[in-house]
Amino acid sequence: MKTSQSERLDRVVADARRQADERAHGYRERALKLYPWICGRCAREFTRRNVRELTVHHRDHNHDNNPPDGSNWELLCLYCHDNEHQRQIEAVRTGGTGSTGGPSSTFAPFAGLKNLLARKPPP
Ligand SMILES: [Zn+2]
Ligand SMILES: [Zn+2]
Repeated sequence: MKTSQSERLDRVVADARRQADERAHGYRERALKLYPWICGRCAREFTRRNVRELTVHHRDHNHDNNPPDGSNWELLCLYCHDNEHQRQIEAVRTGGTGSTGGPSSTFAPFAGLKNLLARKPPP
């Protein structure tokens, strides 16, 4: 008897592969259906003509995390998207990945302000 099991397995694998492919390429389509075509940062509006400049950003930077409710997606224009990733790179560079580090004590957004305020012109 010839078994068709391996054949079936082949098909299952092929199907799964195709579905994964569709999922990977499909999230943009789905995100565009789910959200208005507006950049989440600069509020620039998009139309059919320039929608290719609108990109789908993954909030957690994990492109495999595509929940159907779109909670991991954010529509950003090319520039804001670039910016967003630049910030991420800088965060990593400044030690954002440290596993031993507690809260980033080196990051004091108001330190500079304090210095500025202290630097009063002489009377
Ligand atoms: Zn933008
Ligand atoms: Zn992104």
